[in-house]
Amino acid sequence: MKKYIITIILIALFLSTLLGVTMFSFAQSDYALGDVNRDGNVSAADAALILRSLVELATLDEEQQALADVNENGVVDAADAAAILRYLVELGTIPPAKPTVTPSPSPTPTPALPLSGKTIILDPGHGRHETLADRWRGGSYDWTLETDPKYEGGTHYHEADRVLDFALEARKQLQAQGATVIMTRSGLNHVGSYSRMSRVNITAMEHMLAQTENPLPALIKEVEDYTAIMNSIIPEAGEHNGPIAQVYYNTPYSSTQTIHPTTKRIFDMTNQVENLIFISIHTNARGSGSHPPPTDVNGVETYYIHNASDAYNKNYYLGYRAAENKKLADLLLTHTATETGFAKRSSAPQDYFMIREHNVPGALIEIGYHNNWSDYLRLMDESMPDKVAKAIVKAALAYFK
Ligand SMILES: [Zn+2]
Repeated sequence: MKKYIITIILIALFLSTLLGVTMFSFAQSDYALGDVNRDGNVSAADAALILRSLVELATLDEEQQALADVNENGVVDAADAAAILRYLVELGTIPPAKPTVTPSPSPTPTPALPLSGKTIILDPGHGRHETLADRWRGGSYDWTLETDPKYEGGTHYHEADRVLDFALEARKQLQAQGATVIMTRSGLNHVGSYSRMSRVNITAMEHMLAQTENPLPALIKEVEDYTAIMNSIIPEAGEHNGPIAQVYYNTPYSSTQTIHPTTKRIFDMTNQVENLIFISIHTNARGSGSHPPPTDVNGVETYYIHNASDAYNKNYYLGYRAAENKKLADLLLTHTATETGFAKRSSAPQDYFMIREHNVPGALIEIGYHNNWSDYLRLMDESMPDKVAKAIVKAALAYFK
C-alpha cells in the first residue's frame, strides 16, 4: 500500500509540473475546495499534499483538512487526491459541495467460468418421428439388433432418442462451465429438420446484432424481416418441412440448386459472429434401408463444411467459415475418441444440411455405429452420456481458448 501511495505521489508531482494551472476558485471562500496548499490554484500539487499527509510526510491544519476533503465525506484520504487528479486529467471533476459522492468499494469480482459469454447450439440429430411406422421410413434412425426396454417398442434402437440423452447431459455440463446452451430439440417430440436450421439462423442473427456496435436501422429491419421468415418455417412439419422451407433452403436436396438471396444474405451477415458454435449430434449406421445389417465398421466420425471441396454443391454458397468448422470438427473427433473409447476414425468435409444451412461455426459428430455390435453396446452404456458430454465440453473449451 505504501509503495502504491508513493507511486501516486510521484505521478502527482509529475502532473503538477505539467498541469499546475488554475482550475477554478470558489467565490464564497478564501480558498477553493481542493486548494489544500492555499496557493490560489487547485493543482496536482494539492493532490500530492494530501497523499503526503496520508503517509505522514506532511501535516494538514484544520482549514487544510476541510479543503482537502473534496468529496466531503468527512475523511481525508486517497479518494480525495484521486478526485483532484481525475479532474486534472479531465476524466472527472471534483464533486460539487453537495451531494457527496463517495467512491463505492469495488464489488467482489465473481470469477468468470471458462465458458462464460459463449453460446453453444446443440442439435440432437433428427426430429423424433411420431409413430413407429414413420421411424421405419427413417433409414438409420432405427435399428433392431438388440432389445432395450428403455426405448419405445422395446426392440429398437432409436438414434433420435439416444442422441437426445447425450445432448441433455452435454447441456448440463456446458452450463456448469458458464455457457449458454440452445437446443434445437429438447424433448422426444418431432422437430423438423429445417425448423431446427431456422432456429440456428435466428440465433446467429440475434448474436450478430448484439455484437454490432450501433447497428444501422436498415440492418435491424433486415434482421426483423428475416427472423419473421425463419419463424414462419419453424411450425412446418415433415422431413423436408413445408413449402416455405423449400423456398429458402436446399430441400429436397438438389446438387445444382442455387442459394436463395435471403438465405445468402443471412449467411453473409452472420459470418463474423463470435462466441457462438453449433454441434449436431448423431450416431451412425452402415448399409441401406430401415434395418441395415450389422457392420464391422466402428468408431467416431466428424464432419464440417468448407469451400474448397468437391464434397458439396459449389453453386450453393462459398462463404462458409471453413477454418473454424474444421477446427471444431477436429477437436470433437479427438476429444470424443479420448473420452468415450470409441475408435477414432476421421474428420472430413461433407455437405449435410445441418452444417450447410447456416453459417455458424459448426460440426456434426457421428458417435459410433449403432449397427456395429460393440459400438452399440458402448452407445447404450449408462456412462456414455456423461462421457460424450465431457468430450463436448473439452472440445468447446479448446475451441474458445
Ligand atoms: Zn443421424
